[in-house]
Amino acid sequence: MTTPLPPEHHTPLAHEAQVHVDLAQRVADSPSFAKPDHTRIFVVANQKGGVGKTTTTVNIAAAMGLRGLRVLVIDLDPQGNASTALNVPHHEGSAGVYEAIVEGTDIDELVSPCPDIPGLTVLPASIDLAGAEVELVSLVARESRLDRALQAYLRDCEEAGDVIDYVFIDCPPSLGLLTVNAMVAGREVLIPIQCEYYALEGLGQLVRNIDLVKAHLNPALEISTIVLTMYDGRTRLAAGVVEEVRSHFGDTVLRTTIPRAVRISEAPSYQQTVLTYDPVSSGALSYLEAAREITLSGGESPS
Ligand code: ADP
Ligand code: MG
Repeated sequence: MTTPLPPEHHTPLAHEAQVHVDLAQRVADSPSFAKPDHTRIFVVANQKGGVGKTTTTVNIAAAMGLRGLRVLVIDLDPQGNASTALNVPHHEGSAGVYEAIVEGTDIDELVSPCPDIPGLTVLPASIDLAGAEVELVSLVARESRLDRALQAYLRDCEEAGDVIDYVFIDCPPSLGLLTVNAMVAGREVLIPIQCEYYALEGLGQLVRNIDLVKAHLNPALEISTIVLTMYDGRTRLAAGVVEEVRSHFGDTVLRTTIPRAVRISEAPSYQQTVLTYDPVSSGALSYLEAAREITLSGGESPS
């Protein structure tokens, strides 16, 4: 065995390796996650595309499922990327969240289990959902249709003795009626922020929309969690972005940042999450740790 060099001699690579070892240790120390005392419903939102909403949704949900929690993922993006990553059928014409929102079909009839992760159920999206944005406009209670369908489903599950611990709603990259439906159905907003120049740009608009929904439709809504994604430790820029976001959002920012990692981006093309595709990769470990942090953050009980 070689003696480790003191930290001041660490190369960036050695530093990254040390971070990985520390992370693996902490993950190994936490075999199962604590159940919340009520169902926590997260809206994963950011109107910018490509910031890691879907990746964060599926990997945090997978981490929780693998650690013994009951989790529901609602794919609210017509592109259906979350449905793909979780390996559930969602071809054009197949039933999913569209039927729940527009036609009032029971969610119970529309969900599929994720074949690779115990405890994880998915309400998939197909491209038909693209029409919902327009169709919703003329429907009654157009902003609260997902909320009603979800609450009915959660009650049915509970009565059947199958209490759902966490719900994650993966939003499309817009602030239209689908995202508003998610914000009315949810209690906590989880915002993934990509570690890049102008990371905070556009967030003001998102925060104003959340405030509007809170004021008029869902007083319980809070921004509870910020996740920094695609962090590249070799750049000064990334560290600067982390500092800026932390000074702006304080304690809501998870301590765990998600690294930019090839394994994370490869996993969906095998209909996998990184947790099952490469469970010991830095991407998998960081999502496990981020999920653990969320389970420790509590979440206010609904009054
Ligand atoms: P959004 O849902 O916000 O549009 P995605 O989660 O689909 O964003 O991510 C956008 C792209 O970036 C995808 O191709 C995804 O695989 C990739 N990606 C996301 N997070 C990471 C990461 N931490 N490292 C590498 N690639 C990532
Ligand atoms: Mg997405």
